[in-house]
Amino acid sequence: MDMNPRTALSGGMKRTTYAAWFWRPGWAQGGEFWQLELSAPQLRAVQSLRLGSHSLPVETGRFAKIDRQDRCCTFCDCGAVGDEKYLLMQCPATHVVRQRFSCLFDLAVPPCMRQLVWGGDRMMVARFMLACLGEVGLIGSFEIFSECHQQFAT
Ligand SMILES: [Zn+2]
Repeated sequence: MDMNPRTALSGGMKRTTYAAWFWRPGWAQGGEFWQLELSAPQLRAVQSLRLGSHSLPVETGRFAKIDRQDRCCTFCDCGAVGDEKYLLMQCPATHVVRQRFSCLFDLAVPPCMRQLVWGGDRMMVARFMLACLGEVGLIGSFEIFSECHQQFAT
């Protein structure tokens, strides 16, 4: 099975995306995303992004019967497929968020999605996901932490 969601055949794409990018790898430390002390809307937004039930072009284009390679990101004009990886790691529209959360990217090796999602502090990753979704207007600002190191009860 082709584990790259961008090149795998469309059938089971969602499952492939989840497996390649969001499935908890054996080496992951720490708790689960659903155990984080987030508000219900925040947790829903994080889990929806992980499970592929979101409003990114890669999903909305499915219902509009647009070919996958043509489901371009609507938040920039790069013409790339607007999928989860693009939003979190590449889209110019979320560049400022990556800068704010540079702690997640300050690794010797640029992280792949799995490293980003499961290698970093889980709460930080959740905050980063929310900030990216908020930056492009997919969730309301009340669900977003203003900065990476905002104090949070532990
Ligand atoms: Zn974009």
